[in-house]
Amino acid sequence: MPNRRNLYFYHKKDKDMLEKIKPLYELADNHGFNIVKDFKQANIIVSVGGDGTFLQAVRKTGFREDCLYAGISTTGKLNVYCDFHIDDTDKMIAAMTNEEIEVRRYPTIDVTIDDEISFHCLNEFSIRSAIIKTFVLDVYIDQLHFETFRGDGMIVSTPTGSTAYNKSVNGAVVDPTLPSIQVSELASLNTNQYRTLGSPFILGANRVLTLKVVQDGNDHPTMGMDNEALSIQHVEKIEVKLSNKQIKTVKLRDNSFWEKVKRTFL
Ligand code: NAP
Ligand code: MN
Repeated sequence: MPNRRNLYFYHKKDKDMLEKIKPLYELADNHGFNIVKDFKQANIIVSVGGDGTFLQAVRKTGFREDCLYAGISTTGKLNVYCDFHIDDTDKMIAAMTNEEIEVRRYPTIDVTIDDEISFHCLNEFSIRSAIIKTFVLDVYIDQLHFETFRGDGMIVSTPTGSTAYNKSVNGAVVDPTLPSIQVSELASLNTNQYRTLGSPFILGANRVLTLKVVQDGNDHPTMGMDNEALSIQHVEKIEVKLSNKQIKTVKLRDNSFWEKVKRTFL
């Protein structure tokens, strides 16, 4: 890397935000960082906002593996991806001047739609009926037809995404040192005809989850990659597996995953 101190800030561009982050630009400049306008030239990408902003920062910059990501919170609380309060400059300076920055890696997932379109997710892939009617999914683990789901939808989450949407539907919180994907249901209908496991399940790193949308008329579900909806209108087959791409973040003294879980929920 030609210059390891090329820093790109990702944030909203409204007047309020520009005012708020002015001191951050100055701080970075004073500590020898080269602030770049094009994220392609960055080695460090800093999002300023909330966890939602961090998800967007990672997505808009293309899930870069050769970059270090960091999140600065403007919401007054630290969540999963934001480790710095915007006004806690002492902590930022300590991290910036630390010669040996330790890196932590977060697993992501790869999703492929109809063998054609592929993308990554840092929190989760979600699929749900776009109308007030259930839809049907045939669920495969590797080659095995596992279950036939009928209901509102499903969530396939990463370990760091396990505290987001997945947690709201009673999924387990998963340590990111366990590269895995969790599958959880949205209101499954259970009858003699349609039977699902009924509890979330966690797949290991080498499994492939395939969801086949039964083409019965309700085959135009809404699909989401983290906090962005897919514009695809119609789908037959979705494949999800753990990606070999991982997102690198700064490891600080007080930000182990379980500290994050504690500070967010307990
Ligand atoms: P949002 O609907 O404004 O935010 C949902 C909340 O989830 C926010 O408080 C957000 O934090 C927080 N969050 C995001 N990622 C998280 C994570 N990995 N662990 C714990 N909390 C997390 O949308 P958003 O801010 O753009 O976030 C997108 C995420 O919201 C999606 O990826 C999905 O996981 C989640 N979501 C949840 C539900 C639900 O629980 N019923 C429904 C739809 C989506 P900030 O306030 O710091 O942004
Ligand atoms: Mn948000």
